[in-house]
Amino acid sequence: MSESLTSRLSGFHKLSMVERHEKLSQMLGLDEMDLAQLQGISALQPGLANKMIENAVGTFSLPLGLGLNLQINGRDYLVPMAVEEPSVVAAVSFASKIVREAGGFTAEADEPIMLGQVQLTRYGDPTEATKRIVAAKEAILALANSFHPSMVKRGGGCKDIEVRVLPAPEGPRGEPLLVLHLIIDTQEAMGANLINTMAEGVAPLLEQLTGGKVFLRILSNLADRRLARATCRIPVELLADFDMPGESIAEGIYQASRFALADPYRAATHNKGIMNGIDSAAIAAGQDWRAIEAGAHAFACRDGQYRPLSTWHVDDGHLVGRIELPMALGMVGGPIKIHPGVQVAMKILRVESAREMSMVFAAVGLAQNFAAVRALGSVGIQKGHMAMHARCVAVTAGARGDWVEKIAELLVTAGHVKVEKAREIIESLSESDFRAATGTDG
Ligand code: NDP
Repeated sequence: MSESLTSRLSGFHKLSMVERHEKLSQMLGLDEMDLAQLQGISALQPGLANKMIENAVGTFSLPLGLGLNLQINGRDYLVPMAVEEPSVVAAVSFASKIVREAGGFTAEADEPIMLGQVQLTRYGDPTEATKRIVAAKEAILALANSFHPSMVKRGGGCKDIEVRVLPAPEGPRGEPLLVLHLIIDTQEAMGANLINTMAEGVAPLLEQLTGGKVFLRILSNLADRRLARATCRIPVELLADFDMPGESIAEGIYQASRFALADPYRAATHNKGIMNGIDSAAIAAGQDWRAIEAGAHAFACRDGQYRPLSTWHVDDGHLVGRIELPMALGMVGGPIKIHPGVQVAMKILRVESAREMSMVFAAVGLAQNFAAVRALGSVGIQKGHMAMHARCVAVTAGARGDWVEKIAELLVTAGHVKVEKAREIIESLSESDFRAATGTDG
């Protein structure tokens, strides 16, 4: 593995896919199998798919792009991103290019601490039940860890417990909820399965201790002890664009941040943009992206109002961005060591731990958000977005090969990015151009 790898691949977007593969081979030592995987030739085989889920009838592909220019804590990362939406990969790469000029992202992540929940009912007096559970803490920890001794050997496992008494949702006369939290260090795993095993495993002991009845035993996806954070600090003059001074762009970004802080309707879209980047990276890396989504949105509501996961302000001539969100990722488990596409993505991503990956994903989310609020707070996103969207429109209208780009450009120039306009353009071509454009050349 080359430590000196750069993610600043100037002109990468102009290369053909074959040339991009050559470049990746040179940089990362990808072999023929890896490249075949990227080309979809040896992608997930139906036999393996059939072992991964139920009722499998095939496999499903998405475009895989590379987020470029990311520099995090002084190290460069190429980020594989699996996504169907145009602009996402370009936005991360563009934003990261500006941030790297300003010294790159700084990121950090917490230890991999997750929570398992056990719901107790019919336990009698909540204070007495809590006292009994707390008094039996060592026995509970030992029992939980007995289901995963290898986790303890790795330095992880169940480290602590917490008892929570929650008001009954149906009103003052209902039994308060008594919930045991198992506080578990999952090391390099996301942890869902191992947490669930421990939570189920300790349930009989809790019933015995309290005389109560356990119902649910499962992890919490609000992984708020496992947060990742990224920041960037960009000199305002680096933001100048669209014939606007950097100060104006920074002001627009700050206003976008204020809007999202004050208004959940805006915050939802602000956070969707962040998750565009994080989900794409998570899918490529075989992560449980639904868990990441659930954690992110629950965390966004932690003070009772849905808030943005990232904020921006101007400080001493610099635009300062910060993101913080739960990031339950794994280097092992689920499809990570099974899915051949994930194996190639991991070779490209070159992270050595789930914590390192969390930092990268947090920075990807902040980069994505930066690109969005920069455009939204100035000229709007449609200009850039439509240029990308135009290619899909051209393909939908029947354009193929080099003509996709040509028709897309004509659509953007016409200021009318619609399928009927693309068809109109294609139909107005000479007979030979029409055949070339629609791939009906024979
Ligand atoms: P797995 O159970 O698939 O894998 C984790 C196991 O990997 C560990 O239990 C451990 O087993 C082994 N392992 C090997 N090396 C390490 C290491 N260095 N650190 C930690 N573990 C190691 O996955 P998870 O428990 O992580 O669960 C994730 C899966 O659960 C995902 O596929 C997810 O979709 C799914 N899931 C998610 C839910 C959710 O609500 N988010 C709910 C239910 C399932 P050993 O100790 O035996 O070696």
